Parts: sequence; C-alpha cells; structure tokens
Amino acid sequence: MTAILRQKPVFRFAPSPNGPLHLGHALSAFLNHDMAGSTGGRFLLRIEDIDLTRCTPEFETGIYADLEWLGIDWEQPARRQSDHFGEYQAALDRLIDRGLAYPAFMTRGETKTRVAAAAANGERWPRDPDGSPLYPPDDRGRADFERHELLASGLKHAWRLDMGKALAVVGEPLFWQETGDGDRGLVAANPGAWGDVVLSRSDAPSSYHLSVVLDDALQGVTHIVRGLDLFHSTSVHRLLQTLLDLPAPVYHHHRLITDKDGRKLSKSQGDTGLAELRQRGLSPADIRRLVGL
Ligand code: GLU
Repeated sequence: MTAILRQKPVFRFAPSPNGPLHLGHALSAFLNHDMAGSTGGRFLLRIEDIDLTRCTPEFETGIYADLEWLGIDWEQPARRQSDHFGEYQAALDRLIDRGLAYPAFMTRGETKTRVAAAAANGERWPRDPDGSPLYPPDDRGRADFERHELLASGLKHAWRLDMGKALAVVGEPLFWQETGDGDRGLVAANPGAWGDVVLSRSDAPSSYHLSVVLDDALQGVTHIVRGLDLFHSTSVHRLLQTLLDLPAPVYHHHRLITDKDGRKLSKSQGDTGLAELRQRGLSPADIRRLVGL
C-alpha cells in the first residue's frame, strides 16, 4: 500500500512593527494559532518590517511581549523581512529581465498634482480597490534610452509592475480558494483593478505585495488567515504567485474589529492597544471575549 504523505497545514501571523498591536491583531493571531492547533498544523510569526522608516525595534519587542502575554507561541526564530532584502531583489530582477517591471520616477506629490489636474478638467481618474488613484501611465511608456538616461542620472525611483504585460503573460483568468467571512469558494481575482502596483519603493527595497508572496512561498505557508481589509490585495498576490511560479495558498479573510463608530482600528488608537489593555488589568481571556472568540 502506498503511504499518503499529507502536508501539515502551515499558518502565519505577519504583523508590521510600525505601531502597537491592537484588538484587530489579537483576532488575527488567535485565529491563526487556533486553526494551527486544531488542524495539527504549524504556526509561524513573520515580522513585516520592510518599511525601515516606520518600523522600530521597540514595536517589534512589543509584538513579542503581546503575543507571549496572549499565550500564543510560535516556531523560533520569527522571520524578519528586513533580513531578506536580497531575496526580494532577486525576484524583482527576474520580473525586470522579463520586461514586466519598469522604473517609476513620479513622486507621490507629482501623481497627486496630475490627478488633481485631470479632475479639474472633468476627467475621472481610475482608482484602486482601496480608493487610491492608479499610477499615471507616463513612465510605463518611456523608450529604453530615456529610461536608462533617467536611471543613470540617479533620479529616485520605484519599480512598478506593468500590469497590462503581466496579465498578457499569464493569459488566463486567476482564482483563489476562499474560506473566510466574506465571499467564499472560488473567487475570481481582478488584479487589473490595481493598475501598475509597486514592487519596490524608492525608500524601501521591496513592497508589501512582492515580499508577502515570496515569504509565504519560502515559508511553505498553506493557509493565509488575515483581515478582510486585505481581501482585494489577494488578486495581486495571485498574479505575482503565477508570474513567479509560486504555489497558491488557501485564503481566509476574517471580519474586522471596528471602533464604536464602525471604523477599522488603527495603530494610533491607544484604547484598543493590547499593551494598554494589559496595563488596565484585562486578562488574555478578556481579550478573546472582546474580539468575539
Ligand atoms: N503585514 C500586514 C499587516 O500588518 C499583514 C500582511 C498579511 O497578513 O498578508 O497589515
């Protein structure tokens, strides 16, 4: 009889150390940890600190302290993205070599001015699922010599995915398997809605989208459990996974914890911060209750 080797499910909690953890993070961490426990799977912690200007060692220490207090243990060591910039660069280089990424020179301010000018002319500028204006097409259309000249001049730039080319290379509709609190089943991805997404920024050697898909693959993550705020980003992730030959995990986007006005919690809202709640005498069981578990 042939032995069937079943891969253990692998879950991960992937906070960014750019502020204190709040109740929304607690829900994500509990769900991942609980699901790993109930399926005999593994639970990993990943510190998503590519944004070197906003992430600090103090916030990272705070993440470890909060998780330990909640009774959540993870496989050591945690993966820290800032230790792996070379891997993200190598993947970016593959996309550049295939003509799927281009240097983008416009600053945020310049993009804003452009969008405002279009609006003043009565044009409606396309926006991504998070409501941000799509990147203007100018840099995508540059001739090679012009691109080389601009790069050689040392002008600061990001790298962006050429969405049109990327979709053409893939050439077929993409889907993902969803088990979360919103749409379920096989969900059709719509990466084109995001336009030419950033792959690396002028002030950070990678982007969230690029590093998250690479790390999930490198760490063998099979189940991604995260907030519904990242539901639409999954379209971009499926596209990058396909372009880079990475496996497709199962996704579970969970409900968000909101404040009393129904807004998503932000890291600056002290009254829902886990460290603050701990200092006020709440127990981990209270936190579970507060997040509805
Ligand atoms: N680092 C992201 C955050 O803190 C989460 C990324 C993910 O789970 O894919 O919002």
